[in-house]
Amino acid sequence: MNSEIVLSARGIYKSYHKDKIEVPVLRGVDVDVSTGLVTALVGRSGSGKSTLMHLMATLDQPDRGEIYFRGERMDNASRRRRDQFRNRDIGIIFQFYHLLPELSAIENVMAPQMIGRSLWNYFCNRKEIRKRAEAMLDRVGLNHRATHKPSEMSGGEMQRAAIARALMADPSLLLADEPTGNLDTETGQEILKLLAELNQNDGLTILMITHDESIAENADVCHRMKDGQLETRGQTLQAA
Ligand code: ADP
Ligand code: MG
Repeated sequence: MNSEIVLSARGIYKSYHKDKIEVPVLRGVDVDVSTGLVTALVGRSGSGKSTLMHLMATLDQPDRGEIYFRGERMDNASRRRRDQFRNRDIGIIFQFYHLLPELSAIENVMAPQMIGRSLWNYFCNRKEIRKRAEAMLDRVGLNHRATHKPSEMSGGEMQRAAIARALMADPSLLLADEPTGNLDTETGQEILKLLAELNQNDGLTILMITHDESIAENADVCHRMKDGQLETRGQTLQAA
């Protein structure tokens, strides 16, 4: 039996429009993300990787095709359900971290929890939320930078803060857009090691976007984006 599919895209088409010219980016993309695996989405810059990830995270709508989370149609779900999906079911890390510059590392990790609740609910749970944020910073090896703002952190530290923030709601799936894209080789390796640990020790399923072939080679499954379509290498795990 194949391992369970947690997130899938079916027949995805997406074009952008620029000065009345249609720019087709995705032309019939199917992709499955299996539980427990690291799935890589590799392709050249501009090939549509981020576009596909944003669609899979319901941050944008496909022109055609469907996104399913554990079999539930998600691309046309209600706004409320899509918000819940993004805040609770998945974690997202963006290429440029998207940390709020005015907030410290721990405040950045806590921020989505403030947004997802009423003020009263947040107030009542703030100690618990802070404790969890501390535990997440600890998990990614950043507790010594908890009170630092992004401008006082290195690229690797900012990426760790972004990972801690993505893990706050205990998602089963992490979508990572070029997690090493802005880091030097050595720091990038440390981040990859952290992601591998989260996959192997904590059972986190990962969809990793990268333009780096050597990173993609190490994934369990590798999808290659080319001319708006995907070629796939790798096997889905067979159940024991
Ligand atoms: P990748 O992540 O693989 O580098 P993207 O998904 O970011 O690629 O972009 C794919 C293509 O779509 C590129 O040619 C890019 O210029 C174009 N594109 C991306 N976002 C937009 C947008 N909002 N408007 C117009 N074109 C876009
Ligand atoms: Mg991109």
